[in-house]
Amino acid sequence: MNEMLATVMTGTLATKVLIVEDEETLAELLRYNLEAAGYAVLHSVTGEDAEVLVDEEAPDLVLLDWMLPSVSGIEICRRLRARQSTRHLPIIMLTARSEEADRVRGLGVGADDYVVKPFSVPELMARVKALLRRAAPDRVADELVVGDITLDRAAHRVTRGGRDVRLGPTEYRLLEFFMQAAGRVHSRSQLLDGVWGRDTYVDERTVDVHVGRLRKALIRGRESDPIRTVRGAGYVFGERPKG
Ligand code: CA
Repeated sequence: MNEMLATVMTGTLATKVLIVEDEETLAELLRYNLEAAGYAVLHSVTGEDAEVLVDEEAPDLVLLDWMLPSVSGIEICRRLRARQSTRHLPIIMLTARSEEADRVRGLGVGADDYVVKPFSVPELMARVKALLRRAAPDRVADELVVGDITLDRAAHRVTRGGRDVRLGPTEYRLLEFFMQAAGRVHSRSQLLDGVWGRDTYVDERTVDVHVGRLRKALIRGRESDPIRTVRGAGYVFGERPKG
């Protein structure tokens, strides 16, 4: 698993990008730039390993090389599109071929976008960001807003009704996770996976402790509680519906 699997920033909400590329120098260049831009990076050399990583790590986007050692990128793309769980997974094909017919073929099997090698790294990074924004706007938005609460990712700042809310790192990540999916019920184990990371062994009661701290930090005076406890299910973030 060593070269196949390398996750950085575990336990954070970094967007995961899987690079499927057998040219090591190119893979390293991509890794360097993606990590510098704040993404968590996974890398596999073969299409078969990529399929395993997609299942285990649920990346948010795949950079998929066309020419791979055994199973081609085109075939991997086709397989991912055929499965319910990855039907909408954002995929950018990396291809050395520039013929129009091949481009059409790449998009024909369901790739969302493609870049032709050699490509400019800033252009690829822009396409990654654009595709993520189309696929899941809240994952890459600079600012999340729910009701009177605003989370500014760039400034790492949270405000409610214009006043600053001071949060510890765990409460910040918890709030970010909640705000990305406002109105949705999250079980304690989903919160553990999403905020603490799959590989940490934290008791589910820890979730309750941090939700409690987050509530305390967010609520002043007669302000409403933005977090609703759903008995037997977990927590929902977002203003209660009126009436
Ligand atoms: Ca290749």
